[in-house]
Amino acid sequence: MKKELKVFKFGGASLKDPAAMRNVASILRNYEGERLIVIASATSGTTNELEEVVGAHQSGDQAKAMEKLNAIRQRHYEITRELLGEKHPVYDQLNDHLVAVEWVLEEEPHENYDYIYDQIVPVGELISSQIMAAFLSADGLPTHWLDARDVVLTDDIFREGWVKWEETEERARRHALPLLDKGGFVMTQGFIGSTTENFSTTLGREGSDYTAAIFSYCLNAEGMYIWKDVPGVLTADPRLFENVTKLDVLSYREAIEMTYYGAKVIHPKTIKPLQNKNIPLYVKSFIDPTGGGTVISDEIVDKYPPMVTVEKEQALCTISARDFSFVAEHHINRMFKVITDLRLQVNMMQNTALSFNVCFNDIDDKVDRFAEILEKDFKVNINRGLETITIRHYDELTLESLKLGKMVLVEERLPQTILMVVKTLPVIKRKDNK
Ligand code: ADP
Ligand code: ASP
Ligand code: MG
Repeated sequence: MKKELKVFKFGGASLKDPAAMRNVASILRNYEGERLIVIASATSGTTNELEEVVGAHQSGDQAKAMEKLNAIRQRHYEITRELLGEKHPVYDQLNDHLVAVEWVLEEEPHENYDYIYDQIVPVGELISSQIMAAFLSADGLPTHWLDARDVVLTDDIFREGWVKWEETEERARRHALPLLDKGGFVMTQGFIGSTTENFSTTLGREGSDYTAAIFSYCLNAEGMYIWKDVPGVLTADPRLFENVTKLDVLSYREAIEMTYYGAKVIHPKTIKPLQNKNIPLYVKSFIDPTGGGTVISDEIVDKYPPMVTVEKEQALCTISARDFSFVAEHHINRMFKVITDLRLQVNMMQNTALSFNVCFNDIDDKVDRFAEILEKDFKVNINRGLETITIRHYDELTLESLKLGKMVLVEERLPQTILMVVKTLPVIKRKDNK
């Protein structure tokens, strides 16, 4: 009988330099001989730099775009040199991927920014996975490289591709299983897919976790493992809070709630496909791989401690009718049509008699586009630079401590959850009048 399949995902931090890649190889050595698909992200910071390449190209500054791409090229060549020496066939493969991007950059700026973005940014994942696959093979762990765009089929909404599940499942079986049957690991990319016309697409920032779930679902994995720079899922982001503790076990439902409210440790779309097939998700540390991590499964947990998530760069839009009339159902219907068309992520909404409040991630130009469309018929006020703070399983002490120094603009209380949209108050210091 065939051994069961595992899907691993390594993010940018775990692939950031040659030492990090060696560490990944040492983790994988413990799984030698297993049927394993490895999903790789771009090396740390590369996706952000590629976004700058896109920005430069679209603003017509071809020289700057080429220069930035070249810096990425040189950094990846340096990593390769340290891991594999001066001469190795992988340089040609890296060059092929990078030249394909140069061709895009030689064209004029394109009217569809999101389309061009998706023809450029996937190269980060393509080259990191190519280096990693070559290094593993050279290190005695034979690894087949698979182009994720041959598997993950999406619609053509660029930068936010939605997966066509049936076709993707069929393609995963057709492309990945024969490689696994040959023996050795399969290395592919997170975050990227393609349309039926073979244009590249991306699944949304931080989407590599989601790709791992797509492969896990399509190939009926026995377990999915994401290797992070934290010991597991914690009660809050350790970069923002002290005294956080690790959760050993989480139910799918709780994990969905946490990530929905913005817990950055797992991409929000990741859990549902796993839950649908009852595939456990192990969140483990690449720094301490023997640690127990967190297991996310269908196990019901009786009691959770308060868990906090913070989302920065939020914009609160307050929309009201120009004639001060009530905001009625047909108005909301119209707003939702725009939200859906722009694939905006709603983090909070609240309806009052005269206005509709909705809070979005303010990361690209979508909020402005939303306002621009609605301003024809409504008054739209945008309040930027805000945060949403969500507390699951809240207690009053946690709530009060989180409100310190903040002005709460909107608050919503549900039985298990409090959600606040807040503005950080300027610190007022009292003079020491001796
Ligand atoms: P990857 O390299 O896989 O993309 P990420 O950086 O996206 O990893 O996710 C790991 C980071 O998530 C951690 O470094 C941590 O700062 C952050 N994080 C946010 N919320 C949590 C949480 N509740 N538990 C653990 N980590 C969290
Ligand atoms: N490289 C992509 C990003 O930085 C996807 C990922 O890392 O998950 O958003
Ligand atoms: Mg991530």
